[in-house]
Amino acid sequence: MAYKFVDKYREKGARKQLVKHLENRGIEDRGVLQAIGKVPRHFFFDETFWNQAYRDIAFPIGDGQTISQPYTVAYQSELLHVKKGDKVLEIGTGSGYQTCILLELGATVFTIERQEVLYNRTIQILPYMGYKPHFFLGDGSRGIPEHAPYDKIIVTAGAPFVPEIMLKQLRYGGQLVIPVGDEKSQKMVTILRVGENDFDRIELDTFRFVPLVGDQAW
Ligand code: SAM
Repeated sequence: MAYKFVDKYREKGARKQLVKHLENRGIEDRGVLQAIGKVPRHFFFDETFWNQAYRDIAFPIGDGQTISQPYTVAYQSELLHVKKGDKVLEIGTGSGYQTCILLELGATVFTIERQEVLYNRTIQILPYMGYKPHFFLGDGSRGIPEHAPYDKIIVTAGAPFVPEIMLKQLRYGGQLVIPVGDEKSQKMVTILRVGENDFDRIELDTFRFVPLVGDQAW
């Protein structure tokens, strides 16, 4: 597939403005802000909509799915406290934008998407952009047990509950970030694994995600 990808002053300037906006909204992690300042978000959009790419909004990417709002991506990324070399499982690749942010933060990323059309798009676009996660197609609501344990797990779709099987794939000291609630709104939940069966759970702000669909989900 041939991609037409240009990153001109206009897009670079818009990215800088977006970073400022996210700082004003309370994002403090320098690494996360730098990553947002670097990843060309407009490349995930049809050229007709490039003028929308650096607005702080979610946007349809086809097949009823959305590229997450930049604030949400920054918020979840900040919560994950990604360290260089962390092994991160991302559930819900979607456009692949969040995947790129995790890679910019120095993580080794395992990312899974259940929709084939989106999967097929990201396995082409991301490597073309120079981003090389490990891609998987399938139901991520069970995590990916074959590649566990993970330092961090991020779920980018709204879950009705926290799947037990996912928690078991965290390394001790590892952390899960997952939006949990009903179809209309979810609380961002972070869970730290402190022992074999010990987990510290914190509930944070309210968001609205597309649903996590699968065996351990809706
Ligand atoms: N973070 C992504 C981005 O930056 O574009 C947006 C993700 S979108 C809000 C949520 C994605 O989760 C959708 O692409 C959806 O198909 C996917 N999804 C939902 N349930 C899933 C499951 N059980 N396993 C894998 N992916 C799932």
